[in-house]
Amino acid sequence: MKLEQHIAISTAVSAVFLMITKSLEGTIACFLVGIFIDLDHIFDYLFNHGVKIDLKHFFHTFKLEVLDNIFVFLHSWEIMIVCLVVAWLTDWKPVIVGIFVGGCIHLFLDHLWNGHSPLAYWLSYRIKNRFAAKYFYGPKEYRQRLKFMKRKLCESDCNKSQNDTTNRS
Ligand SMILES: [Zn+2]
Repeated sequence: MKLEQHIAISTAVSAVFLMITKSLEGTIACFLVGIFIDLDHIFDYLFNHGVKIDLKHFFHTFKLEVLDNIFVFLHSWEIMIVCLVVAWLTDWKPVIVGIFVGGCIHLFLDHLWNGHSPLAYWLSYRIKNRFAAKYFYGPKEYRQRLKFMKRKLCESDCNKSQNDTTNRS
C-alpha cells in the first residue's frame, strides 16, 4: 500500500482511537506505528541494491522489480502477538495498545492491498524460506515481476545495441 494511503488511514484510525481511549500517548503511538513500520523497506533496499539514494528507484523496486531477499522485519504478525501479550500483562497500557492497533491495521491493509503470498507477513514463513523474495511474492506475482524484469532487460539491451550502431555509423 502507498505511503499516502497509510497516512490517511492511520489518521482516521488514530482519531477513533483517541475518541475511545482518550489517551494522547496511545494515539501518537498508533499513528506513528501505522506509518513508520514501512521504514524497514529501507534496510531491504540497501541490502539488495547497496547504498544508493534514488527515491524514484526505491518505490519502483518494491512495486515492480524482483528483489533477491525480503526481510521486512517489522511487518510481522508475530510482533503483533507479542504486543497483544504485553498489552494484557501491562493491564492494557494505552501506548502498547496503540502500537498493537497501528501495527495490525498496517499489516492488515498491506495483506489485502499488496497481493503478496498469504503468509508473507509472518516472520516464521520468511525465516523458513531464508527470506527469499520469490516466496514472499507468491507464484503469480513472482512470474509477473520476472516478466517485467525481462522486458526491462530487453529494452536496455535494445537501447545499447541501437547506440552502438549509431556510434559505429
Ligand atoms: Zn507496509
